[in-house]
Amino acid sequence: MTDRVVGALQALVRIPTVSDRDPARVDSDVFDALLAELAHQFPLLHERLELTRVGTHGQLFHWAGASAARPIVLMAHLDVVPVDGEAPWQHDPFGGGIHPSESGPAIWGRGTLDDKGCVVGICEAVESLLEAHHIPAQDVWLSFGCDEEVSGVAALEAVEVLRTRGVTPWLVLDEGGAIAGGAFPGVKAPLGVIGVTEKGTTSLELVAEGRGGHASTPAKNGPTTRIARAILRVEKSPFPASAPAPTLELVRRLAPHVPLPLRPLLGPLLGRADRLAPVVTRALLAAGPEAAAMTRTTVAATTLSGSPALNVIASTAKAGLNIRVMVGDTVAGVVEHIRAAVNDDSIRIDVVESGEPSPISPMDEPFELIEACIGEIFPEAVATPYVMMAATDSRHFTAISEHVYRFAPFRMTKAQRQSIHSFDEHIGVADLLDGTRWYTLLIERLPR
Ligand SMILES: [Zn+2]
Repeated sequence: MTDRVVGALQALVRIPTVSDRDPARVDSDVFDALLAELAHQFPLLHERLELTRVGTHGQLFHWAGASAARPIVLMAHLDVVPVDGEAPWQHDPFGGGIHPSESGPAIWGRGTLDDKGCVVGICEAVESLLEAHHIPAQDVWLSFGCDEEVSGVAALEAVEVLRTRGVTPWLVLDEGGAIAGGAFPGVKAPLGVIGVTEKGTTSLELVAEGRGGHASTPAKNGPTTRIARAILRVEKSPFPASAPAPTLELVRRLAPHVPLPLRPLLGPLLGRADRLAPVVTRALLAAGPEAAAMTRTTVAATTLSGSPALNVIASTAKAGLNIRVMVGDTVAGVVEHIRAAVNDDSIRIDVVESGEPSPISPMDEPFELIEACIGEIFPEAVATPYVMMAATDSRHFTAISEHVYRFAPFRMTKAQRQSIHSFDEHIGVADLLDGTRWYTLLIERLPR
């Protein structure tokens, strides 16, 4: 398996499947080449599993198991984000070369972690089990999107296919968490973080209109002024902060591993959610923007537009707000909050993009299976649920399954996590192999 899975990932990285919101700018031939390479690397999988094409180049494979009662879906995506030509990559981002790294020899390039490592890990697990004449205890579906990075439709179509065929997944597993080293200051053990919910992505536009006119005769309180005031008011009215259940559970599981001086402080709180929650919320709010984002719905003012010319007063001014909706909040509630904060009836609020947060998946049997496999392959790690900040294709699957989890079985250092969507993305060869063993074990352990 060693040679094949490493060679397969190198080959996939060398095919630059960059997605784009504008379909005209997507190189269809490149995606065709990737699918051909996948078929070449994993011939048994392509021979034995039933394939449905979704979206332009998305794939949904069906591997019939001994039972169809508790089907599972293993997800990953084939597309990658573009490479910034100015970014100081140490090695060719589409070279797929093996180079030294802080965690030993590593395969280097865009997509090694996000998310082609998962694609080959899943395919290798299936291919090697097929070679061993293994029949999974339950139906196994593989769903590979081709437009995850641009919030595309392939995953939605996969959900529709499953719905039509009456498939209610017992477990859906997508990218997201990882075996994260250095995730918490002072804690030596890596965290096996399993995303049990993700924030919703919503975009609003604030629009102010007025007469416009010549810049030499300005009237007070024009559209640009009102928009500027509205943005300031929104920033001064943050959403209320709280620590949701998965975050509290994370703290509970982490407690035995925090440095000794902190343990007595945490200990008396652990059994008491009512006392733990405010302490955790305050600590996260104080720990910088990244930690603070774990406690509430966030708003970022992004796009701005006004007059097209220096000597013209705008007749319309607009500001875009990108909002990440926390579990517990709703898009409707968010719009109300923004309306109250802006407190100006002359400003219109348009909902450009509406995404609700995903429901929290329970920590019952499917979650325990993920945990048990982490315990076996990564015994050094502390498995824990958490709230994911970013969006994944798996959010669509919450429509047909209560049990949607986000976890990629790869060790990732802090530097590696920061390299995703940035530069110097790479995966350790040993980590790719262990991740592949993890997927194999998961399939082998499916309950009868
Ligand atoms: Zn991804």
